[in-house]
Amino acid sequence: MSNESPNVVNLREPVRKLLAEVEQMYGKEVRIQPFTPNNPDMRGLSDVAEDGTPVILLDNQLRAEKPEKTEKVIAHELLHLKLRARGFRTLFLRPPDERFNLPPVGYGVTRLNDAIHHWIFEPDMHALGVGFMEEAVTHVNNQFTGEGLPVFMEMSDSELGFVFFHFMVEIRREPQKLEPMFKWAQRSGRTAALRRAEAMYELVNRRNPASAEAQLSVMVECANILYAGELRFIHFETRQLQSGRHTRYHAGIFVSPFR
Ligand SMILES: [Zn+2]
Repeated sequence: MSNESPNVVNLREPVRKLLAEVEQMYGKEVRIQPFTPNNPDMRGLSDVAEDGTPVILLDNQLRAEKPEKTEKVIAHELLHLKLRARGFRTLFLRPPDERFNLPPVGYGVTRLNDAIHHWIFEPDMHALGVGFMEEAVTHVNNQFTGEGLPVFMEMSDSELGFVFFHFMVEIRREPQKLEPMFKWAQRSGRTAALRRAEAMYELVNRRNPASAEAQLSVMVECANILYAGELRFIHFETRQLQSGRHTRYHAGIFVSPFR
């Protein structure tokens, strides 16, 4: 691992092993770069540079203020990189024709890829002792008390459905801890969004996507559940970007106005 200040990061043995595994898959050292996230919930990001170097962007503040969380974020991003090296795609959307005046596709679909990756590697994070649970349960307890976060009521069913889905993924080990979220959805009249999340969650569990191909078709079906009645995802294409001797895969999903 190349790092601007290597002493900041003390990785435990299992995480170090994961790092070595990822570096072997890419044939290059992982580069860790500090960055300033534009979203307060974002702690890290991963990408593959043009020359095939796997890169982890790590929140500046985190390293200074919460060094104990640094390992967790690194492990998380390493697992994303591992899936990527195995051919798992990154979702992007492409309208079939500019003339279509599409409703905004926000939050939900752009992060669907991330959420499905999380579903796939949740057992690995748990085994590494850096699981999602603790933080996600805190968020659920804070965000769904009383009237809930004001922003939730401004969200469409698709956006909110995605939020629900992501919590269901992260807290799947102890689903009873989702109770505040379910209760909030009931009392706030947002059960339509909840039903979308439940349908996506049921689909992902049933299909158990373990290959890149399976992940892509599950992603298309999830997008159709999430945007039911608004958008219809009809097709996807894949393209490969040669990056060093490695291949980066991206999934493009064509989107058409719902008919
Ligand atoms: Zn992630």
